[in-house]
Amino acid sequence: MFPANFGYVAARSVEEATELLAKYGEEAKLLAGGHSLIPAMKLRLASPRHLIDLGRVPGLSGIKVDGETLSIGALTVHADVASSDLARHRLPGLAEAASVIGDVQVRNRGTIGGSVAHADPAADFPVILTALDASFVLQGRFGRRTVAAPDFFLDFYTTALAPDEVLTEIRVPLPSSGSGTAYAKLPHPASGYVVVSAAALVVRDPSGRCVSAAVAIGGMGSRPQRAAATEASLHGQPLTPEVIAAAAAKASEGTDPESDLYASADYKRHIATVYARQAIETAASRK
Ligand SMILES: Cc1cc2nc3c(=O)[nH]c(=O)nc-3n(C[C@H](O)[C@H](O)[C@H](O)COP(=O)(O)OP(=O)(O)OC[C@H]3O[C@@H](n4cnc5c(N)ncnc54)[C@H](O)[C@@H]3O)c2cc1C
Repeated sequence: MFPANFGYVAARSVEEATELLAKYGEEAKLLAGGHSLIPAMKLRLASPRHLIDLGRVPGLSGIKVDGETLSIGALTVHADVASSDLARHRLPGLAEAASVIGDVQVRNRGTIGGSVAHADPAADFPVILTALDASFVLQGRFGRRTVAAPDFFLDFYTTALAPDEVLTEIRVPLPSSGSGTAYAKLPHPASGYVVVSAAALVVRDPSGRCVSAAVAIGGMGSRPQRAAATEASLHGQPLTPEVIAAAAAKASEGTDPESDLYASADYKRHIATVYARQAIETAASRK
């Protein structure tokens, strides 16, 4: 199908993009990699009258260390996150999540900012970024604010972004030494999107005991959820296979997944425990 007619503007700066968003209001959409927006326009699920392309705005892509934080520009494509030495060495779970998104074409065009702004409940980045306690820098016409992951992902395809705001940067705290991160996913066999996924950040003391754990589960509701019961079960415990298995068995507590054509709710609940275990085991094995 063809999309409805639309106008196109290539913004030259974030400020210009925010001005254009304010000018066109609900009739405008930002365009990044186009790998979620353009299919939605072709299906007429979205029919913006104006597309504001961020692709030529300088300074919005790249990955760098900023103090104790990994700073990722919103226009950084998935492939660059997957292959980044910084991400692979300091936050391997993040690089892992990027590497299993869609296929090569999607990873070469899709951007991390577009993925989180779109907030598809079957997307990968929101899950790992929730486990890693990431925050999101949003720039509007009158200033900039930073929103933490639990306050950013609000519902199906809904975030805290205001209509005139541009997401410019994703900030991920760099874990201390003795930490490990991992991401594990059951992909839909046709699309590659998440059926169920799990992300883990595990911090150990020198004896191997768990000082803290963050575990997020995807595909189990409208947005990523922290597996609080799993995290509590790991806290203060030696990270043995038995402890991890018992903690992971609680991963679907408090979730209310819906059955769909591919997986029943019961299957999703079970699979969440399997992938939580895999993510925690891998994170615990990483230094
Ligand atoms: C065949 C296929 C398979 C896929 N498989 C997966 C998968 O397995 N896992 C997965 O996670 N994703 C998957 N995707 C989605 C892909 O990751 C998209 O690239 C991503 O969801 C959107 O990023 P984008 O840069 O293409 O954004 P766009 O499509 O350009 O934009 C998406 C939305 O975000 C808004 N937006 C974009 N950038 C910003 C910004 N900086 N500030 C504010 N709003 C912004 C746009 O206005 C739009 O509403 C798949 C896509 C396709 C086509």
